[in-house]
Amino acid sequence: MYSLNDRVMWNAVKVCDHNFDGVFIYAVKSTRICCKPSCKSKTPLKENISFYPTVSLAINDGYRPCKRCRPELLLSNEDEIISIANQFIEKEYRSNLTLDRLAHEVGVSKFHLQRLYKKATGLSPLEYATNLKLKEAAKLLLTTNQSITEIAYHLGFKSSAHFSSLFRQHLNSTPSAYRKGESV
Ligand SMILES: [Zn+2]
Repeated sequence: MYSLNDRVMWNAVKVCDHNFDGVFIYAVKSTRICCKPSCKSKTPLKENISFYPTVSLAINDGYRPCKRCRPELLLSNEDEIISIANQFIEKEYRSNLTLDRLAHEVGVSKFHLQRLYKKATGLSPLEYATNLKLKEAAKLLLTTNQSITEIAYHLGFKSSAHFSSLFRQHLNSTPSAYRKGESV
């Protein structure tokens, strides 16, 4: 399953690594309970555990979701995760959106979100946010008199220099040349 090997997953279980929540589930044969990697309950014996990609597969095999870490509450539907992420990005892209905030909002680990999002869309979530910002910047340049600094500030870029350099990378034109309808 996945590209993760048992050693990586076992290490994640041992250190209760929450970055792997949503990436896999482990099930304990002796207790018949399944857990998220971050679960703080006692680390089981290695020979007693098996790994599953989703909690529903573990439940199908007769495991009960742990009452402590509640793995059944993890979102497991990838489309749902992407759609919640997109809604949040489209609402918040002007603010200083970070992967941490986004992952918190969606309720999965940032590691999982990044992987899943890139697999589904070909972009990272923050690249999508940047695309939205630049699209809006292009519109503002053509339809308003706002200065380049104002537009950069309005769209949450770190500085107008940062804005100009990203703009140039994506649209092959500086913001001022774009406004004048010139190519560089
Ligand atoms: Zn647990």
